[in-house]
Amino acid sequence: MYDSHIQILDSLNDAQRAAVTAEAGNRLVLAGAGSGKTRVLVHRIAWLIQVDGVRPWSLLAVTFTNKAAREMRTRIEAILGEPVGGMWVGTFHGLAHRFLRAHWNDAKLPQQFQILDADDQFRMIKRMLKSLNLDEARWPPRVVQGFINRHKDNGLRASHLDSGGDVIQQRMIQLYQEYQQLCERAGAVDFAELLLRTHEVLRDRPDLLHHYRERFQHILVDEFQDTNAIQYAWLRLLSGDADNLFLVGDDDQSIYGWRGARVENIQNFPLDYPNTQILRLEQNYRSTGNILDAANALIANNPTRLGKNLWTRQGTGEPIRRYVAFNEVDEARFVVERIRHFCQDQGLCRSDCAILYRTTAQSRLFEESLIQAELPYRVYGGQRFFERLEIKDSLAYLRLVSNPDDDAAFERVINLPARGIGPRTVDVLRAQARETGSSLWRSALAVLSTATLPTRASGALRRFVELITQMQQGRDGADERELPDLFQDVIQATGLPAHYEKAKDGKGIERLENLEQLVEAARRFAAEAPADDLLASFLAHAALEAGEAEADDHVDSVQLMTLHSAKGLEFHTVFITGIEEGLFPHGMSIGEPARLEEERRLCYVGMTRAREQLYLTYAESRRMHGREDYPMPSRFFRELPPELLEEVRASGVSRAGRVSKKSAAAANARANPVALAGGFYLGQQVVHPKFGQGVVLNGEGSGSSARIQVNFESAGMKWLVLTYARLKTIE
Ligand code: ATP
Ligand code: MG
Repeated sequence: MYDSHIQILDSLNDAQRAAVTAEAGNRLVLAGAGSGKTRVLVHRIAWLIQVDGVRPWSLLAVTFTNKAAREMRTRIEAILGEPVGGMWVGTFHGLAHRFLRAHWNDAKLPQQFQILDADDQFRMIKRMLKSLNLDEARWPPRVVQGFINRHKDNGLRASHLDSGGDVIQQRMIQLYQEYQQLCERAGAVDFAELLLRTHEVLRDRPDLLHHYRERFQHILVDEFQDTNAIQYAWLRLLSGDADNLFLVGDDDQSIYGWRGARVENIQNFPLDYPNTQILRLEQNYRSTGNILDAANALIANNPTRLGKNLWTRQGTGEPIRRYVAFNEVDEARFVVERIRHFCQDQGLCRSDCAILYRTTAQSRLFEESLIQAELPYRVYGGQRFFERLEIKDSLAYLRLVSNPDDDAAFERVINLPARGIGPRTVDVLRAQARETGSSLWRSALAVLSTATLPTRASGALRRFVELITQMQQGRDGADERELPDLFQDVIQATGLPAHYEKAKDGKGIERLENLEQLVEAARRFAAEAPADDLLASFLAHAALEAGEAEADDHVDSVQLMTLHSAKGLEFHTVFITGIEEGLFPHGMSIGEPARLEEERRLCYVGMTRAREQLYLTYAESRRMHGREDYPMPSRFFRELPPELLEEVRASGVSRAGRVSKKSAAAANARANPVALAGGFYLGQQVVHPKFGQGVVLNGEGSGSSARIQVNFESAGMKWLVLTYARLKTIE
């Protein structure tokens, strides 16, 4: 026993130890980035199992991503030296899904209910608006989707909502209602519904609630600051008055407010549970002093914080480096060039380097530069395997095999590949479905049993129905262990491989390879996750995993991701890119103080991912949404202590020590003029009608595309196209 104590507690500081070994009771570990919150959670679980003798079966642990859940399990098993079976560890969505699979009957769902991901949900709403003859311009599907999800996240059904006489609101409520009916009919459950439905079942079924309350003696939650209303309600319901909540979080890292997360949950928890013991961890183990000081200075600009100290014993480390790029291409080139250098000359692994950005659209240029530099990379949480077109198409067939009433899947593939079923036939099916309140599949069977359709259309539809029926029979005949064979057969029968091969988008081979990967995924899944209904569990797995896993996990690769996906992770070297007003902070947040604070927290999250090196970059011009913009550097730069920042030299020319070294540079330049386009030379003093006086620091291109870079005394660094610049020389 003593050994196990040592193993679990040895690598912890006193504050962490106190948290890990705390007696039962509500605890809130409130601590800054990199202070070991996740570590404490993992070690506490190990402690509970090994020292307190709690059975893994009685533990419920909630993490923010499936990947974090897998890591948590692995780390616990590494500490304990044996597998932990029976423990419920996963995301809120994953756990809710598990619950609904077990209690589908109580939840009034079909046994084979399907999960709709955000894209499926969007398509379904679009179809609904069309069938109701509503104009998408007036009722944008995204807005309707947001309305539905927001209310579900707050625990509200359409019947709970009151329009207050507002016509638009009233129509939105009707749409919510209509959408929900469509879902019920198709046996489909969207992401928000997973949580809401689970909550309702637990709330309305005292016997089930009692069972789970008895079972879960300890409930542990990581990243508690990003829970939404229904998730918190869920935790409260499950915990009852057992005082068994162990929550860890950091209010400064709450970054999902736009998706319904409520930072108030962490702020109010001690009020909701007055017996809560708040534990603080203040030593950061992740980052160097400079990085930590800069991050602390930035976040200090947010007025509404719980406030905490964070210090490190690590040295000050390297300065934070800032690179001002000429444009977004130059930015990508710079970042990739640095990474190549670190990997080649300094022995860093590619996976030690992360490129973070505010919006997914920014990834493409980095990807292109990385491909050119032949550096393998991984877009974490980007276009993911299960979201790729060919995968979703094939999965739609498999969903029909599993549950023919799945309308979203039905519509996706009824004429894919083209088999002569036109929009008119589909309209007939939709009308029939609306009239009879049944699924499209059942409507197709009904329509085929009458003479409603013209002969050719009817023949085409009949062949489709037969195709799906055959696939279903193939499934019934197959042993469940033969999941990959079923996939193989279904994919062949769909005609999709030939369809992709013929398509002239140059992606045929890649798509076929991905289809092979899908069969592989089925093989792995069948081997690893024995389940009663393998096909249904695989489909659920695909829908839930779509957010995270990338195909080639094993190659050492540069990590690309949005700032949001970087939460909880850490890297030796971090590049935060596109730090410009309008991009970061995002344009939608400027002018709204609460959202601006959330952007600042996002920046804090990004900076605190770095262990040793942190690069901050922005571009002076950027093509976005089809036009060229000249953004201002982000206000976040002004909030960082200047002494911690170092400008990166561009092309061997110093950008540091701007004005003070101006005359020296000019003198030097006069002595050794390096000629640039337009007769300018490095170090030359110039005047611009708008930006005022400055020094030429760099130049590139020729003819009409010639540009020079000038460091202006008041306006800072600018790249200017010579043809338009109207620069005058001073000397
Ligand atoms: P975040 O807020 O970003 O989620 P966190 O508070 O969860 O961070 P961890 O990820 O648990 O922090 O820990 C940060 C890093 O510090 C990890 O690499 C972890 O292994 C290390 N670490 C934490 N505590 C200690 C300790 N007592 N001794 C050595 N290393 C530690
Ligand atoms: Mg953590």
